[in-house]
Amino acid sequence: MLCLTINLQERQPPGKGTMKIVSRLIMAFAALWLVYLCSSSRITSRNASLFKAQFGNLQMSSFNLVIAHPDDEVMFFAPTLLQIDRYLDQDIQLRVICLTSGNAEGLGPVRSAELKRSVHILLPDRSVHVTVADLEDSMQVNWDIEDASQIIANQITDNAPVIVTFDSIGVSGHVNHISCFDAVNRFAKTHKPVATYALKSQKSRLLKFTGLVRPILSAWLRRENQEYFSTYPQYIHSLAAMISGHESQMAWFRYGWWILSQFVFSNQVVPSVAKVINVVD
Ligand SMILES: [Zn+2]
Repeated sequence: MLCLTINLQERQPPGKGTMKIVSRLIMAFAALWLVYLCSSSRITSRNASLFKAQFGNLQMSSFNLVIAHPDDEVMFFAPTLLQIDRYLDQDIQLRVICLTSGNAEGLGPVRSAELKRSVHILLPDRSVHVTVADLEDSMQVNWDIEDASQIIANQITDNAPVIVTFDSIGVSGHVNHISCFDAVNRFAKTHKPVATYALKSQKSRLLKFTGLVRPILSAWLRRENQEYFSTYPQYIHSLAAMISGHESQMAWFRYGWWILSQFVFSNQVVPSVAKVINVVD
């Protein structure tokens, strides 16, 4: 009888172990955000030193972001754009060149207008030249890289531009993102001098969706800073640009992206490998 009593007392209600794991995960998540809230000054000083190291010695005439779709600028590049806006001289022209209108679902004109609104919300104190071209928005169609390069050349006519775009993986493997990389490399081959940088993709799908974890660990544990990192206010600012700027794109799953993706918190932009990729003439 005594043994039976003890066994009944030790038996845990079903799901209690799961609840314990979930509560610990929630506490860890909350702690991570608390660290993030308290990290703004550290993040700001690391962003400043990285900007100085990457762009401080460049005699650039313009800074250009080449993207494939309206919303790429904020979904993937907001941490970079916000630091550029903060540290780049106001006299240097900033351009956003979008190679499609995002017309895959017939919303091209709407999405073009949304891009301009999003950029204005994201960078309200800077005059940004936004261009939307009419290449096909499709995951199945490879662009003519010469045409895409010519669109870039039509916009970037100054002699010392810096260009940032996707890398050869294109974050998500989207063919339009990858074509941006190829088009910029083609442009760089024929329009020197130019410095090109690419947003480094995360090859591991798991790591791509670890949200704040890796960036915050990197901000605190790595001595050398290699990425631009939005502070908490900057993150909220970029989320507002997404929600208010790209209303047609705000399906429920986008909120998941804004919690789980690394790219809304940090960007690693690295010199592009234009000199070694195989560009066919
Ligand atoms: Zn895109």
